[in-house]
Amino acid sequence: MSDAESTLITGIGELVSNDGEPNDGKPNHGQQGSFAAMAGAALVIAGGKVAWTGPASRAPAADAVVDAAGRAVLPGFVDSHAHLIFAGERSAEFAARMAGRPYRAGGILSTVEATRAASDAALRANLRRLAAEMLRQGTTTFECKSGYGLTVPDEARGLALAAEVTPEVTYLGAHVVPPEFAADPAGYVDLVCGPMLDACAPSARWVDVFCEDGAFGADEAAAVLAAGQAAGLHARVHANQLGPGPGVRVAAEAGAASADHCTFLTDDDVDVLTSTPVVATLLPGVEFSCRQPFPQARRLLDAGAVVALATDCNPGSSFTSSMPFCIALAVREMGMTTEEAVWAATAGGARALRRTDIGHLGVGARADLILLDAPSHTYLAYRPAVPQIAAVWQAGSLVAGDVP
Ligand SMILES: [Zn+2]
Repeated sequence: MSDAESTLITGIGELVSNDGEPNDGKPNHGQQGSFAAMAGAALVIAGGKVAWTGPASRAPAADAVVDAAGRAVLPGFVDSHAHLIFAGERSAEFAARMAGRPYRAGGILSTVEATRAASDAALRANLRRLAAEMLRQGTTTFECKSGYGLTVPDEARGLALAAEVTPEVTYLGAHVVPPEFAADPAGYVDLVCGPMLDACAPSARWVDVFCEDGAFGADEAAAVLAAGQAAGLHARVHANQLGPGPGVRVAAEAGAASADHCTFLTDDDVDVLTSTPVVATLLPGVEFSCRQPFPQARRLLDAGAVVALATDCNPGSSFTSSMPFCIALAVREMGMTTEEAVWAATAGGARALRRTDIGHLGVGARADLILLDAPSHTYLAYRPAVPQIAAVWQAGSLVAGDVP
């Protein structure tokens, strides 16, 4: 379909719009937005955007008509946290972890070794395979981090590849200290804040740091974020994944868009997340795949924090690209309602990326949407692990699935 044509999707059993999102250019301020849905609805796509929504009985004419036949339409998922630039896989490490066996050869550094050895073509093919996998599962926007190269040329080429497939590119040179800097971690931070940043900033929108015991401490993390911001990047932080720590505070002090993981939070951390614009991005695929306690979403929501859900898709701790799976986990294991989980996987992800054009289906939004093979959003958690994405539109174009 060309951009000049309009498409009416009618007969929508449940249109999840999340309409009423603040669209004042300050998406990160204020409280958790609200899930909003309408029964018996229709939606018009024109020029790649949502042009009209309302009761099907009052829908205007359009060039093409799609009958949703009572099924649900949702905003495309926004996966605000993924590590897709890598080579190799770590299934043996996962199997050993599940069996309770020690496994010596695993970890991030094994992926670093494989990634450094891979050709550009191999990295690009893996990245595109994962991006296509995401799209088929309804993810219309995803963030993509570097962090398995950890040399100037390897980080720079990874980010250049990521920029081919998404605008949400994140420089994560500060993922872990590579072996060649084991005796000089301060020297590695200097590299990350200096020549590596210079090579990477042109391809990136975001700077991220793994602020955790065994990775980067509060001062190092703050230095990495400040250097990135001086180069024009916006901050986000891996925070409080493995234990309590300074990550959330560092994120707030840097004005970061999001603190990701938030698995181990003190009351002070929760206060920070409710009193600043930092989004708490929860990544339940990690706790599932590492058999760890899930983050306390209910505690955050009840306190008034803004919560997003993302996959953290990576070959070690969470090798899923499925937002529906994360929604199911959030509902079953984290005390989120189905409405809260779907909001967090769509509008919440948009907040975490400071985007106002996605994550909702208000008039003027980018026409990124999913036709679900089910009558309501609840089915995403009610029928876990069942493929239910019938069709996906991205900026108004049908990019996956089929329509009648
Ligand atoms: Zn991550």
